[in-house]
Amino acid sequence: MSILRQIAQLGQPVLRQVAGKIADPADPAVQALIDDLLATVAEADGVGIAAPQVFVPLSLFIVASRPNPRYPHAPQMEPTAMINPELLWASDEMEKGWEGCLSIPGLRGLVPRHRRIGVRYLTRRGEVREEEYADFLARVFQHEFDHVRGIVFIDRVESTRELMTEKEYLRSQKSHA
Ligand SMILES: [Zn+2]
Repeated sequence: MSILRQIAQLGQPVLRQVAGKIADPADPAVQALIDDLLATVAEADGVGIAAPQVFVPLSLFIVASRPNPRYPHAPQMEPTAMINPELLWASDEMEKGWEGCLSIPGLRGLVPRHRRIGVRYLTRRGEVREEEYADFLARVFQHEFDHVRGIVFIDRVESTRELMTEKEYLRSQKSHA
Protein backbone atom coordinates (compact mmCIF):
# COMPACT_ATOMS: atom_id res chain seq x y z
CA MET A 1 0.00 0.00 0.00
CA SER A 2 1.59 3.27 -1.07
CA ILE A 3 0.94 6.69 0.37
CA LEU A 4 1.32 10.10 -1.21
CA ARG A 5 4.24 11.96 0.35
CA GLN A 6 4.47 15.69 0.92
CA ILE A 7 6.78 17.35 -1.61
CA ALA A 8 9.52 19.60 -0.22
CA GLN A 9 9.37 23.08 -1.75
CA LEU A 10 12.37 25.26 -2.62
CA GLY A 11 13.72 26.72 0.61
CA GLN A 12 13.60 23.41 2.48
CA PRO A 13 17.22 22.59 3.42
CA VAL A 14 16.76 18.92 2.42
CA LEU A 15 16.76 20.01 -1.24
CA ARG A 16 20.29 21.40 -0.79
CA GLN A 17 21.79 18.38 0.97
CA VAL A 18 24.01 15.79 -0.71
CA ALA A 19 22.06 12.53 -0.39
CA GLY A 20 23.61 9.46 1.21
CA LYS A 21 24.05 6.10 -0.53
CA ILE A 22 21.53 3.33 0.09
CA ALA A 23 23.28 0.36 1.73
CA ASP A 24 20.56 -2.23 1.15
CA PRO A 25 17.94 -1.81 -1.60
CA ALA A 26 15.97 -4.72 -0.09
CA ASP A 27 15.39 -2.76 3.14
CA PRO A 28 11.58 -2.66 3.57
CA ALA A 29 11.78 1.08 4.30
CA VAL A 30 13.51 1.62 0.93
CA GLN A 31 10.94 -0.54 -0.86
CA ALA A 32 8.07 1.40 0.79
CA LEU A 33 9.76 4.69 -0.15
CA ILE A 34 9.95 3.57 -3.81
CA ASP A 35 6.24 2.66 -3.82
CA ASP A 36 5.38 6.04 -2.30
CA LEU A 37 7.57 7.94 -4.80
CA LEU A 38 5.90 6.11 -7.71
CA ALA A 39 2.44 7.06 -6.40
CA THR A 40 3.48 10.64 -5.60
CA VAL A 41 5.07 11.37 -9.00
CA ALA A 42 2.03 9.94 -10.83
CA GLU A 43 -0.41 11.99 -8.75
CA ALA A 44 1.60 15.19 -9.32
CA ASP A 45 1.92 14.75 -13.13
CA GLY A 46 5.70 14.61 -12.79
CA VAL A 47 8.13 12.79 -15.08
CA GLY A 48 10.56 12.17 -12.25
CA ILE A 49 10.98 12.59 -8.51
CA ALA A 50 13.94 12.20 -6.18
CA ALA A 51 13.91 11.00 -2.57
CA PRO A 52 15.15 14.36 -1.18
CA GLN A 53 11.99 15.91 -2.67
CA VAL A 54 9.98 13.93 -0.11
CA PHE A 55 12.33 14.83 2.76
CA VAL A 56 14.44 11.64 2.52
CA PRO A 57 18.11 12.47 1.83
CA LEU A 58 18.96 9.19 0.09
CA SER A 59 20.43 8.60 -3.36
CA LEU A 60 17.31 7.33 -5.10
CA PHE A 61 14.98 8.68 -7.74
CA ILE A 62 12.21 7.66 -10.11
CA VAL A 63 12.23 8.36 -13.83
CA ALA A 64 8.64 8.08 -15.03
CA SER A 65 8.33 9.80 -18.36
CA ARG A 66 4.86 9.78 -19.92
CA PRO A 67 2.72 12.38 -21.64
CA ASN A 68 0.70 14.30 -19.04
CA PRO A 69 -0.80 17.78 -18.69
CA ARG A 70 2.52 19.22 -17.41
CA TYR A 71 4.63 17.49 -20.12
CA PRO A 72 2.32 16.81 -23.11
CA HIS A 73 5.18 15.62 -25.38
CA ALA A 74 7.06 13.38 -22.95
CA PRO A 75 7.94 9.88 -24.24
CA GLN A 76 6.23 6.91 -22.61
CA MET A 77 8.31 4.58 -20.46
CA GLU A 78 7.87 2.14 -17.60
CA PRO A 79 8.41 4.09 -14.32
CA THR A 80 11.86 3.08 -13.08
CA ALA A 81 13.43 3.39 -9.64
CA MET A 82 17.16 4.19 -9.80
CA ILE A 83 19.18 3.57 -6.63
CA ASN A 84 22.68 5.01 -6.07
CA PRO A 85 22.76 6.42 -9.62
CA GLU A 86 26.07 7.29 -11.33
CA LEU A 87 26.81 9.28 -14.46
CA LEU A 88 29.41 7.24 -16.41
CA TRP A 89 29.88 9.58 -19.36
CA ALA A 90 28.22 12.51 -21.05
CA SER A 91 28.35 13.83 -24.62
CA ASP A 92 30.07 17.17 -25.18
CA GLU A 93 26.99 18.18 -27.12
CA MET A 94 24.61 20.18 -24.95
CA GLU A 95 21.02 21.09 -25.63
CA LYS A 96 18.78 23.63 -23.93
CA GLY A 97 15.27 22.55 -23.01
CA TRP A 98 12.47 23.75 -20.76
CA GLU A 99 12.27 22.12 -17.34
CA GLY A 100 10.02 22.37 -14.36
CA CYS A 101 10.21 20.85 -10.91
CA LEU A 102 7.62 19.62 -8.41
CA SER A 103 9.63 21.43 -5.72
CA ILE A 104 9.48 24.74 -7.62
CA PRO A 105 5.83 24.96 -8.68
CA GLY A 106 4.70 27.42 -11.32
CA LEU A 107 8.13 28.04 -12.87
CA ARG A 108 9.89 26.78 -15.99
CA GLY A 109 13.47 27.41 -17.03
CA LEU A 110 15.59 26.79 -20.10
CA VAL A 111 18.31 24.40 -18.91
CA PRO A 112 21.39 23.22 -20.84
CA ARG A 113 21.95 19.45 -20.50
CA HIS A 114 24.19 16.84 -22.11
CA ARG A 115 22.28 15.41 -25.05
CA ARG A 116 23.49 11.83 -24.49
CA ILE A 117 24.63 10.13 -21.30
CA GLY A 118 25.66 6.73 -19.98
CA VAL A 119 24.45 5.82 -16.49
CA ARG A 120 24.62 3.08 -13.91
CA TYR A 121 22.20 2.40 -11.07
CA LEU A 122 20.78 -0.38 -8.93
CA THR A 123 17.22 -1.53 -9.58
CA ARG A 124 14.80 -1.95 -6.69
CA ARG A 125 15.76 -5.66 -6.77
CA GLY A 126 19.40 -4.72 -6.28
CA GLU A 127 20.51 -5.54 -9.84
CA VAL A 128 23.17 -3.35 -11.50
CA ARG A 129 21.92 -1.71 -14.70
CA GLU A 130 23.88 0.28 -17.26
CA GLU A 131 21.88 2.31 -19.77
CA GLU A 132 22.28 5.05 -22.35
CA TYR A 133 19.78 7.87 -22.61
CA ALA A 134 19.33 10.66 -25.12
CA ASP A 135 17.24 13.83 -25.37
CA PHE A 136 14.25 14.00 -22.99
CA LEU A 137 15.16 10.94 -20.91
CA ALA A 138 18.76 12.13 -20.62
CA ARG A 139 17.35 15.47 -19.44
CA VAL A 140 15.10 13.86 -16.82
CA PHE A 141 17.97 11.71 -15.52
CA GLN A 142 20.28 14.73 -15.23
CA HIS A 143 17.56 16.76 -13.46
CA GLU A 144 16.93 13.99 -10.91
CA PHE A 145 20.65 13.24 -10.54
CA ASP A 146 21.12 16.89 -9.60
CA HIS A 147 18.50 16.50 -6.85
CA VAL A 148 20.53 13.82 -5.04
CA ARG A 149 23.47 16.24 -5.04
CA GLY A 150 21.55 19.25 -3.71
CA ILE A 151 21.22 21.01 -7.08
CA VAL A 152 17.97 22.34 -8.59
CA PHE A 153 17.31 23.36 -12.22
CA ILE A 154 17.27 27.10 -11.61
CA ASP A 155 20.96 26.78 -10.58
CA ARG A 156 21.69 25.80 -14.19
CA VAL A 157 19.62 28.42 -16.01
CA GLU A 158 22.03 30.76 -17.78
CA SER A 159 19.91 33.90 -17.49
CA THR A 160 16.84 34.91 -15.49
CA ARG A 161 15.43 35.90 -18.89
CA GLU A 162 15.23 32.17 -19.59
CA LEU A 163 12.64 31.66 -16.85
CA MET A 164 8.89 31.59 -17.48
CA THR A 165 5.81 30.96 -15.43
CA GLU A 166 4.35 27.51 -16.02
CA LYS A 167 1.11 29.07 -17.22
CA GLU A 168 2.90 31.10 -19.92
CA TYR A 169 5.03 28.08 -20.82
CA LEU A 170 2.01 25.83 -21.39
CA ARG A 171 0.29 28.60 -23.35
CA SER A 172 3.35 29.01 -25.62
CA GLN A 173 3.57 25.23 -26.17
CA LYS A 174 -0.06 25.14 -27.25
CA SER A 175 0.40 27.94 -29.75
CA HIS A 176 3.42 26.10 -31.27
CA ALA A 177 1.67 22.73 -31.50
ZN1 LIG B 1 12.97 18.58 -9.71
